[in-house]
Amino acid sequence: MHVGFIPTMGFLHEGHLSLVRQAREECGRVVVSIFVNPTQFEPHEDFEKYPRDLERDRGLLENEGVDELCVPSMEDIYPEGSAHVPLLAPPSELTQILCGQDRPHHFAGVATVMQRLLQRVQPTDLYMGQKDYQQTRVVQWLLDRTFPSIRLHVLPTVRESDGLAMSSRNVYLSAEERTVAVHLPAALQSVKRLFEQGETSASRLRQLFQSEVRHPKIQVLYAEVCDVSTLHPLVHLTRSGEGIFLAAVRIGTTRLIDNIIL
Ligand code: AMP
Repeated sequence: MHVGFIPTMGFLHEGHLSLVRQAREECGRVVVSIFVNPTQFEPHEDFEKYPRDLERDRGLLENEGVDELCVPSMEDIYPEGSAHVPLLAPPSELTQILCGQDRPHHFAGVATVMQRLLQRVQPTDLYMGQKDYQQTRVVQWLLDRTFPSIRLHVLPTVRESDGLAMSSRNVYLSAEERTVAVHLPAALQSVKRLFEQGETSASRLRQLFQSEVRHPKIQVLYAEVCDVSTLHPLVHLTRSGEGIFLAAVRIGTTRLIDNIIL
């Protein structure tokens, strides 16, 4: 029997539920985990204030017919104590670029918690969102290395009606910041249009992104064109589906990421 697994940090939204529904269609058994993983937060980040609402999440998952909700304790995942975890070290070409530039420990924490969750749940199929694209590449590295029989499904980003990618962290945005945030998906759409009109230069696509996203409240953390499978930076795109444009911005104190496949 296929066992589909959706690892999450909770405070669920339609993005998470889209993964659950796809797993439900494809697998005889569906397991969701909720675990806010301390090892993937940098020391100054929002681990303590990360939004949590387990009772609401439980109700949403019951409605979707999930077979098992796994809510491990800190001791279950990190019996050695979360401050003393020997972290996995995925290749730095994957972990120190893009989000790794301002979150240098993040993907080691992601790989480590995923290894422990996969050992517990033992799924055949893993469902993750394209929004966290770099994370999917790190997890694919882990699967290739340690769990070669598990199949990773990367599903499209679910968006609000104005295009903003759904994220548990969107609740941090003030009303004004929320209206500004739409610049991010809009700029990515402009990049895609320019690519479809024949522009193949990564630097010209980046220039367009920078000009479209420009706003006094938006700080661009990165904007890069990378190979969809290796995440190596690309200078030129030679064919459709080869590249992905990935960006992160900060609006106030909130960090938002998004991407679009070109
Ligand atoms: P998180 O709870 O943020 O760790 O996310 C758990 C899973 O849900 C990850 O695989 C995410 O990529 C995925 N996810 C988060 N937001 C979205 C979204 N807007 N659309 C699709 N998947 C998402």
